[in-house]
Amino acid sequence: MIEREQIEMDVVFVGAGPANLAAALHLKNEIREHDELVDKGLKKARKIGELEIAIVEKGSFVGAHILSGGVMDPIAIRELMPDFIAQGCPVDSVVIEDAFWYLTENSGFNSPIVPPPLKNKGKYIVSLSKVCEWLGEKCEEAGINIFPEFPAAEVLYDENDAVVGVRTGDKGIDKEGKRKPNFEAGVDLLAKVTVLGEGARGLLAKQVTARLGLDQGKESQLFSLGVKELWELPEGNFPEGKVVHTLGFPSDTQTYGGGWIYGMKDNVVSIGYVTGLDYEDPMIDPHAEFQRFKTHPMVAAVLAGGKMIKYGAKSINAGGYYTMPKLYADGVLLVGDCASFLNSQRIKGIHTAMKSGMLAAETIVGAFEHEDYSSKTLRHYDEKVNLSWIYDELHAVRNFHGAFQKGRWSALINTGLQFLTRGLAWGFMPKEHHMPGYERMKKLDKSERADGAKSGGYGPKDHLATERYRDIPFDKVLTFDKITDVFHAGVAHDEDQPSHLHVLDTEICATRCAEEYGNPCQRFCPASVYEMEDNPKTGRKELKVAFSNCVHCRTCDIADPYQIINWVTPEGGGGPNYKGM
Ligand code: SF4
Repeated sequence: MIEREQIEMDVVFVGAGPANLAAALHLKNEIREHDELVDKGLKKARKIGELEIAIVEKGSFVGAHILSGGVMDPIAIRELMPDFIAQGCPVDSVVIEDAFWYLTENSGFNSPIVPPPLKNKGKYIVSLSKVCEWLGEKCEEAGINIFPEFPAAEVLYDENDAVVGVRTGDKGIDKEGKRKPNFEAGVDLLAKVTVLGEGARGLLAKQVTARLGLDQGKESQLFSLGVKELWELPEGNFPEGKVVHTLGFPSDTQTYGGGWIYGMKDNVVSIGYVTGLDYEDPMIDPHAEFQRFKTHPMVAAVLAGGKMIKYGAKSINAGGYYTMPKLYADGVLLVGDCASFLNSQRIKGIHTAMKSGMLAAETIVGAFEHEDYSSKTLRHYDEKVNLSWIYDELHAVRNFHGAFQKGRWSALINTGLQFLTRGLAWGFMPKEHHMPGYERMKKLDKSERADGAKSGGYGPKDHLATERYRDIPFDKVLTFDKITDVFHAGVAHDEDQPSHLHVLDTEICATRCAEEYGNPCQRFCPASVYEMEDNPKTGRKELKVAFSNCVHCRTCDIADPYQIINWVTPEGGGGPNYKGM
C-alpha cells in the first residue's frame, strides 16, 4: 500500500492546453469581479475570496505537448483579454490571403472560390505551443499554481461517484515495475471541482465517460490524425500570411483527408496533412499519406530548397456536436477537444476550446457562490454552451464529418446542402449517423493496397510493404521516414519505466490481427512505436513496442480494430517537445 500525500485545492484543471488556461485565467477574473460587486453592494451574493487553483500538466513545460496547425480565430481570446496583442500574445502572422487547391495525382488547380469555412483573412497564424506558454505565464502572474511534469493518472471519486480530484502518476518505477531510489508516490489532489481539458482522447475524460456513462445517447466519437512539419524555406517560396488548404491527392475518395500550408514569419511554413481515422483500408498509413502529399508537384515546389526543422502528430476530435459527451457530472466538467468542441469543417478548435473553458469558469463561480459542486449547479455549463456562439457554430456543421463516411463526392454535395440549410443532412434528414473508425476498418482481403504483404507495414525495416507508398523516395530532403521525423519531435522518455502503452492481449497481435488486418498499428502510429518482429523461438512475428518514440497522439488508443491498446500517462515530463510548433 503506497502512502500518498493529499493536497486540498478548490479547483484542479487537468491539462495546460488553451481550454484550461483560458478557463483558469477567466475564473480568477470572474471571481475578482464577483467579489468587487459584492463589496460595493451591487450584487447580493456570498463573497468567494481567494481560491486555490492548480493546473497539472504532463509535459515538462506549458506548451511542450501542444500542437496545432494552427490558425487561431481570435474571437475567444479577445473575450478573455481584449488587448491580447498589446499584452504580448505571441501571434506569428496575420492571414492576408486564402487559397484552396484541388490536387489530382500529377496536377491540380487553385480554385477560384475558397469555401467560406476555409476563409481565414484577418485571423492569426500561431504556434499554439507558444501561445499556451504565454497564457501559462499570465496564469502564474494571476496566482494560479501550474505543475508541469505532473501527469494526472486517475480520477478520484467519493462513495456516490462524485469526482473529488485526481491522482498524479508515481515517479521512479523501473521497467520491471519495481521502485527505483528516486521513487516518489503520486499525490492525491483533492478539489471541489475538477476540470478535464486533456485534448483529444484524454485519459481521464475516457475514464470518467466510461464510468459515469457521459456518452450515453450520443453518437460515437470520430477522430482524425494531423501530421505536421515546420519547414524553413528560401526567401520568396511562400509568402507570410498566406493560408492554403487542399483537397484530393493523396487521399482516395473513400478516405477523409486534406492538407494545409501556412506561411509564417521568417520564411517558415507550417505544412501538414489530416487523415480521418475512420478510413476503411487497413494498409493506409497517415504519416506516409503526408509524405506523399509533399511529393505533389504544387506542394514540392513550395518546399523546394527548404529544410524540415520540426515534426509532430496529434489526433483531433472530428465528430462535432452529435458526439459531444455530457459535459458535466458531480464535481467535474469537460472542456476543449476532449469534450468534442472542435469545428471539423473549419479545422479549428482553439477558439471553441478557449470559449468552453471560459463558460466552465463562469459555471464554477456560480458553484462557489452557492457552495454546491454537484450536477445541480454544474449543469449550467451545458446551458451556457447551448446559449453561446459555440452552439451556433457547431450545430450548423453537426453533420459535416459523418457525411464523409459515404465518400468524398457525396459528402461535398452534402456539405453544400448543409451550408444552405444550416446543417441538415443528405436528403434533409435531421441526423447523419456514423460509425466509430475502428469498426469501419475492413479486413485485409478487402484492401486494395495489401499487395500480398500481409503482415508487412510501414515500419523502420519494412516500410515499402505497400504498393501505394513505394513511390515515396524517403530521401530525407523532401520526404522523411518516421524515425527521422520522430527525432525532429524532440521526443524523450526515460527508458527505464514501464511502457505506457498497454496492449491487453499480444496473442491477438500475433494471430488474429496479423491475419485479419496485417497489424495496422505499424502504419497508423506516426512514430514507429509498433513493429512486428520475428521471434526465432516461436517462429512467428510478435509485437515489439518502442514506447520511447511515442509522441502522445493517442491514435493507437483510438484506431486499433480490437480496442486492446490503452494509452496511459508515462512518467511526468516524458513525451515530445513541441516548443515553437
Ligand atoms: Fe501515437 Fe500511440 Fe504511436 Fe504514441 S504509440 S505515437 S500515442 S499511435
